[in-house]
Amino acid sequence: MNRRDFTQLSALTFGWTLLPSYARTAGASQKPVSYAAIGLGTVSDIFMRACANSRNAKVTALVTGHPDTKGAKYAAMYGIPKTSIYTYETFDRILENKDVEAVYVGLPNSMHCEYTLRAARAGKHVFCEKPMAISSAECRSMIEACRQAKVKLMIGYRVQYDPTWMQAIEIVKSGKIGKLQSFQGGFVSWQRTTSWRLSRKLCGGGSLMDLGIYPLNAIRHITGEEPVDFTAVVATRDISGLYAEVEQSLEWTMKLPSGIIASCGCSYGQVGPSFLNINGDEGCLQVEPAFFYDGVHLRGQAGGQAIDALSPGKAPYQFTLEAEHFSGCIRNDKEPESPGEEGLKDMLAIEAIYNAAGAPIA
Ligand code: NAD
Repeated sequence: MNRRDFTQLSALTFGWTLLPSYARTAGASQKPVSYAAIGLGTVSDIFMRACANSRNAKVTALVTGHPDTKGAKYAAMYGIPKTSIYTYETFDRILENKDVEAVYVGLPNSMHCEYTLRAARAGKHVFCEKPMAISSAECRSMIEACRQAKVKLMIGYRVQYDPTWMQAIEIVKSGKIGKLQSFQGGFVSWQRTTSWRLSRKLCGGGSLMDLGIYPLNAIRHITGEEPVDFTAVVATRDISGLYAEVEQSLEWTMKLPSGIIASCGCSYGQVGPSFLNINGDEGCLQVEPAFFYDGVHLRGQAGGQAIDALSPGKAPYQFTLEAEHFSGCIRNDKEPESPGEEGLKDMLAIEAIYNAAGAPIA
């Protein structure tokens, strides 16, 4: 076993031991939780593959605007009966389907709230993709609907379930990099030109909603603090009209109540990193790549030692860990590690960042 193999194995073992016990043991002897995938696009395709790799989650129903094409294709792949393929119009009939316990919401951001509310009314648990919705008001209504229906609500913050990210957080919590002082983070990406992500109505905003939310959530998650002071600036360098409705780039700073400061950025249409620097007064950690589906790499100095750990899995393992966690929560009646409140807190910070940039969410 070479050093890289050893690092990978220890990251997996270390990360696995950090998972809550109900997530680690779930599925070994329990019936898999049955999910309906709503919206059969990129992320739902990943989620369905992740469930197929999991020990305690399976997809048993589909919700799509194209039942005869996309619906039929995925039904054949996952052995789903034709009677369990719904359209957006017939979705509410899922109430009667005893072979659906939960839904996975893989729709454009502006549709997350509506389908969470409809799923809760049907008595189904909800695993909703990030960002939770397009406003804090929507997030609150989703939390309330799930509370009233007594169903669980989890937001898809997949990196929170990555063993190498867990290792980074454990190092911070152990005090090995001393007192936290600052963060620098960023996530940039090329973006498809025809995507709903370029529509304010469907996405709610631009690169911040889609990409900037990753360093924002990581910083909130690591510190357990809610940012209070913000400065921000938006810019759109591409003058083709592509970004007529949403920002291309956004840079922001924020201060946490303890005095920790952070500076972060996100952008569409640019090649660049996906990273987070975590700086303490006795050591520091760098995660890069930080927010990709795999290959998460942690380096730094902590407790006088060099850290070098690489996430062991291949995509979509983060989604598998998330699905297993939520299924374990359902089977064992536990609150998910990334509940609706986590999505709401990010949305409050996102609103504050847009306000600071002078580009409020309408
Ligand atoms: P996508 O465009 O690939 O898929 C969206 C799906 O919604 C498609 O099946 C489309 O047919 C359907 N849809 C229904 N009504 C629509 C409408 N009015 N306009 C456009 N599409 C409509 O998008 P995606 O990349 O799968 O993203 C879906 C959600 O998942 C978003 O909220 C996104 O932020 C999130 N996401 C999360 C991750 C992650 O790593 N956690 C990765 C990708 C996407």
